[in-house]
Amino acid sequence: MIRKTILLVAPLFATPALAQAPDFSKVEIRAETLATGVAVLFGAGGNIGVSHGPDGTVLIDDQFAPLTGKIEAAVAALGATPVRFLVNTHWHFDHSGGNENFGKTATILAHRTVRVRLAAGGTVAGNTLPPAPPHALPEITFDDGVQFHLNGDTIEAVFSGGGHTDGDTVLYWRKANVLHTGDLMMSNAPFPFIDVGSGGNAVTLVATLDKALAMTNDQTKVIPGHGPVVTRTELKAWRDRIADGVEAVRKARAAKQTLEGLLAANPLKVHDRPGAFINADAFVRAVWRSLDAMPAADGHKH
Ligand SMILES: [Zn+2]
Repeated sequence: MIRKTILLVAPLFATPALAQAPDFSKVEIRAETLATGVAVLFGAGGNIGVSHGPDGTVLIDDQFAPLTGKIEAAVAALGATPVRFLVNTHWHFDHSGGNENFGKTATILAHRTVRVRLAAGGTVAGNTLPPAPPHALPEITFDDGVQFHLNGDTIEAVFSGGGHTDGDTVLYWRKANVLHTGDLMMSNAPFPFIDVGSGGNAVTLVATLDKALAMTNDQTKVIPGHGPVVTRTELKAWRDRIADGVEAVRKARAAKQTLEGLLAANPLKVHDRPGAFINADAFVRAVWRSLDAMPAADGHKH
């Protein structure tokens, strides 16, 4: 039932219009423990990572504001104290919507561009977002990363180039061997959402996924931005599908194929899934735009 709820609303809202918010009164928050003091919460919106223990509670992402009470109850049910630190993996509203509540008492951290985008507001997949109130903004921002030393572990928060947006942070628990990818990976989707309007780029995404893979081994538990917890194998397969897509679009462009021609012949359609938020055509368009945004590989102007 919960899985179904997640699929219906992920990664943002599944409907093309993106107009209907989920019925928050019906959303249940389900917890899964991954290691001592490390858990993931599933509800509606981005998966929430939790570190808890004697040094306080760290939350990774916070879904939607109407769910804050349920999230707090789920955190308490883990035996955890109220949230001390909150990290936004990126600025999208299904990952940062709870900031306006948690920000009243917790310290929010994120990559520098997350604060800029939240403060300005903007458009994501057709949703117009107003500027966030000041207390919902990250108070501490970073360029490359930051480390938490608490609850018997070191949690690395790393920005290594983004790709889904220009501010994607991955988090890695060194001792527990858990990785939270944010929306750099979605385990319930056939294709990634590359938010080019928020500085996302398919080429960058592949490079960032390579860096995330380098942090993992066969025992790593991977919390994706949406969908169930997976392993390095699924993360690698996800990276390879995106890399193959980038390569296919590159080849088409090198052969002077048009975007329309490529879409008509779209070889990635075999991976399409009914009801998916991003289908093969949307993915190819995003890759095409990503390549448009890259400097010419040979350095010459054409
Ligand atoms: Zn996102």
